[in-house]
Amino acid sequence: MSVSLRCVEASDLLLPGSLPEALAMMAEPEPPTPLAGGTDLMVQCEAGARKPPARLLSLKQLPELKGIDEADDTIRIGAGATHWQIRNHADVKVGLPGLVEAVSMVGGRQIQTMGTIGGSLANGSPAGDIAPYLLIADAVVEVASIEGTRQIPIRNFLIDYRKIDLKPNELIVAVTCKVLPEGAKEGWRKLGPRAAQAISKIMGNYRGKIVDGVIESFAVSLGSVAPTAIRLPEVEAFLVGKPLSEETIAEAERLASASVKPISDIRSTAEYRKWVAGRLVRGFLTSFTKGNEGSEGSEGCES
Ligand SMILES: Cc1cc2nc3c(=O)[nH]c(=O)nc-3n(C[C@H](O)[C@H](O)[C@H](O)COP(=O)(O)OP(=O)(O)OC[C@H]3O[C@@H](n4cnc5c(N)ncnc54)[C@H](O)[C@@H]3O)c2cc1C
Repeated sequence: MSVSLRCVEASDLLLPGSLPEALAMMAEPEPPTPLAGGTDLMVQCEAGARKPPARLLSLKQLPELKGIDEADDTIRIGAGATHWQIRNHADVKVGLPGLVEAVSMVGGRQIQTMGTIGGSLANGSPAGDIAPYLLIADAVVEVASIEGTRQIPIRNFLIDYRKIDLKPNELIVAVTCKVLPEGAKEGWRKLGPRAAQAISKIMGNYRGKIVDGVIESFAVSLGSVAPTAIRLPEVEAFLVGKPLSEETIAEAERLASASVKPISDIRSTAEYRKWVAGRLVRGFLTSFTKGNEGSEGSEGCES
């Protein structure tokens, strides 16, 4: 079967075998375009949304971008780790269960085995399913050029709509997340037009801890409600120290709806997204009272 891939046909493919070699190529006056799994880049070129780059730099053979390593209270994930590798990694399942849930719903198996965490971040889409989790896990993004390495907190890395803190000569090397603290819970929820293979209308994560019915900590993030994935600082500040009562949950729901300013697009209206933002926060808090583990999963519902 012949497959037409304008992106590859139009481009020279560079195949560095190490990170220093790749960074030297990226340091040229007109740097090549990095190619990881190609699940965004190829599709954008094929759809005509992006001009096929003159030169592609394959990240496939860079050992420095592979690997998932636990150290103390963090897990460092190489930018070249695929969604499939992440969802099946024993340490990630224990330390970052909300990430496992999020990557498990990225496309289908084919996309998960090709798509990488670095590609998802570099693509910079507000509908990307991974960034909201990285926000609640206080992730730090490691980027490198021949000039050296920068460690950027994810909240600073996501600048604006499809704008990230990455210079043309830099590569994303890894993402380091704080593991779920003892006694805390986290979860994730995605709403799309279908239960699978769907770009999110809205999605989010929480990580929190309740001690004797009082909220000790609570981080919550949403995607597809702003130009980048966001945390909800007003909701978080309101919740800490409050009893987990219906009154608290109702006010957190109201605050969440009020604090987001989404747009209407082909996937959803702004009003729907505002309403669902509140309902997601309610669902996250209710999961504590129900005592169920993890997320409420993914859904193709409209209400
Ligand atoms: C059918 C289909 C379904 C999908 N479903 C979902 C979904 O449900 N949820 C979701 O979030 N996404 C989804 N996606 C989007 C996509 O799969 C993910 O964003 C994926 O993680 C992108 O990773 P990649 O390795 O394929 O990136 P690539 O396509 O290789 O690259 C994407 C961009 O990042 C740059 N880049 C890649 N790696 C690096 C690096 N290390 N350093 C610097 N720049 C880099 C590239 O130059 C390019 O600009 C879907 C895509 C398809 C085709």
